[in-house]
Amino acid sequence: RSGFVAIVGRPNVGKSTLLNRVVGQKVAIMSDKPQTTRNKIQGIYTTNDAQIVFIDTPGIHKPKSELGDYMMKSALSSLNEVDAVIMMVNAEQRRGAGDNFIIDRLKTVKKPVYLVVNKIDQITPDDLLVVIDQYKDALKWQEVLPISALEGNNVEEMLNELVGKL
Ligand code: GDP
Ligand code: MG
Repeated sequence: RSGFVAIVGRPNVGKSTLLNRVVGQKVAIMSDKPQTTRNKIQGIYTTNDAQIVFIDTPGIHKPKSELGDYMMKSALSSLNEVDAVIMMVNAEQRRGAGDNFIIDRLKTVKKPVYLVVNKIDQITPDDLLVVIDQYKDALKWQEVLPISALEGNNVEEMLNELVGKL
């Protein structure tokens, strides 16, 4: 089993942190500065019988310039070339305009889209239910997967889920 998975989401939701954890080495540049990982940086997750190439796709957000617009379109077109897409959101924050902008763009994507709710180490199980409720009807999610990229909670389960669908 092998395939490509793109990760999208607002800046600072934890995309690079997940990538770094999954591939076991620093591939994406970690930074608090938005858009540091502007280029597609690929990390490869490998087990005995599976391989997933992850693509960090930070360019999908409301463009503020023509260059930004160009980059967003190029990032968007890459989403139809992968086998699955992860939309990552921050469990600490309510669903906002930035999330909605990305969700709207994902409506044209024909590949399975997973909702990954990250930073669950920061919230209570009750709060998690509230966050999931905010997103559950926003798109036809393949699956909703709560994780902590930083602490590793549920990351193995998430990977198994992705591998199982390849
Ligand atoms: P990106 O912009 O989406 O790539 O986000 P980063 O991976 O750079 O993470 C942004 C910030 O969130 C960093 O300070 C991370 O340490 C932090 N972070 C990422 N994942 C988690 C998590 O699961 N729990 C907590 N508490 N912090 C996280
Ligand atoms: Mg990043």
